[in-house]
Amino acid sequence: MNLKKAKELWAKACEFLATAVSEDIYSRWIGVIEATGDDDPNQLTLNVPNGFYHDWLLEHYLSLIKEALHAAGADDITIDFKVDSSVATREKSVRTEETVEAPARVKSRQTKSVNVGGILNPRHTFENFVVGPSNTFAHAAAMAVVEAPGRAYNPMFIHGGTGLGKTHLIQAMGEASLRRGKGKVCYITCETFTNEFIQALQQHQIAAFRKKYRQIDLLLIDDIHFLAGKESTQEEFFHTFNSLHQNQKQIVMTSDRPISEIANLQERLVSRFEWGLVTEMDMADYETRVAILRHKREELKIQLSDECLIFIAQHVKSNIRKLEGSMLRVASYVSLTRRMPTTEVLEYLLRDTIEQENQTALTIESIQRMVAEYYDIRLGDMTSKQRPQNIAFPRQVAMYLCRELTAQSLPAIGNAFGRNHATVLHAYRSVGAKMKNDAGLRQTILSLQQRLGGVAAPV
Ligand code: ADP
Ligand code: MG
Repeated sequence: MNLKKAKELWAKACEFLATAVSEDIYSRWIGVIEATGDDDPNQLTLNVPNGFYHDWLLEHYLSLIKEALHAAGADDITIDFKVDSSVATREKSVRTEETVEAPARVKSRQTKSVNVGGILNPRHTFENFVVGPSNTFAHAAAMAVVEAPGRAYNPMFIHGGTGLGKTHLIQAMGEASLRRGKGKVCYITCETFTNEFIQALQQHQIAAFRKKYRQIDLLLIDDIHFLAGKESTQEEFFHTFNSLHQNQKQIVMTSDRPISEIANLQERLVSRFEWGLVTEMDMADYETRVAILRHKREELKIQLSDECLIFIAQHVKSNIRKLEGSMLRVASYVSLTRRMPTTEVLEYLLRDTIEQENQTALTIESIQRMVAEYYDIRLGDMTSKQRPQNIAFPRQVAMYLCRELTAQSLPAIGNAFGRNHATVLHAYRSVGAKMKNDAGLRQTILSLQQRLGGVAAPV
């Protein structure tokens, strides 16, 4: 839309936003946004000061901003965040790379610690990381690596499903290392690493690229599963890895799946990733979920009763990002209406999330039930430790179907069967292989999928 319309609409939306979030959040994240004109009548372009804002707003405030536009009378508007660094110079309080990455404390101690990588989210610190059974080990290992980088646990490999705190933990390692003056620290996503590498190739600057990455003291590389199938980046990373490792420089990686499951990862990388310490992060249990919500309530100065937090922790069980999102949703209701929600209102506000949670919870169990029924065994046989063939095979089929038809992670599926992720993976591969040569089995699987509503029945 044109400049005038954009400015008017944004001003109205801001009135809503100012009531929906705290003053602090408003001035930090919303007040710095500038609406600007563009050619598309159904698009609102918003200028933001830097890439950090861009990502942060997209991840945390997009739905609230959409609600605000809706409240301002504009529906079906797409929002385009554009980085415009001149916004930063107009607004002094903006968090620039420098303030985020190199806190004054570091400078005043005259240490040589610098961040040569991407921006760290200022909230992703050890102080803000709530420890519970699901992450105790990963957390302790992360602290140990920060204390003595390049020694005991090198590389460190953290894996776990999405939204379980991997990025938070690895960035906390970066922040703590910078604060302690541990030399050149580089946090980078594997995607950015890949893009930088490709760009360096195109611009004939490979030497500079190598120099940059081989001088790092602590390399924190997020979402390493992104290397899957990327031959030449894997090649380059292999050399980076060796060079750092030989010089006792610390490497930390996160991945949304175990090493063995990263598709098309060169064998020599697989073995290197397994050299050091491999830790897994799981979904937080109920008590930890409540503790996380309490911590966030404090941190963000949100007014919410314990009852609300308990309701949220009871219903959102699969992902901490969703847990937080749910709390913010309830919090914006409270700040708008100035009333604590009743259980009915909570159910209504969180209906989509609760439905998703119920679906996934239902699916594994319903698959187990359906397969047990089909093979005429007991539901309890799905989780029992016994392995006679007449039980073991149906169990493998059920695991196969869970992997095919639900979005659950291998560890989560394993859990539901009282087994570990490796067993599920083995079952999945073994059933898949048998299906290739066994038309009868293919037919069985197809008909089970149809009964479960996983594929359309042939007409
Ligand atoms: P991942 O990288 O595993 O997908 P993130 O690290 O992005 O997950 O975590 C998602 C959100 O949950 C983040 O806002 C993060 O701060 C929060 N979070 C995850 N684990 C914890 C924890 N143990 N304590 C506090 N906050 C957490
Ligand atoms: Mg992440």
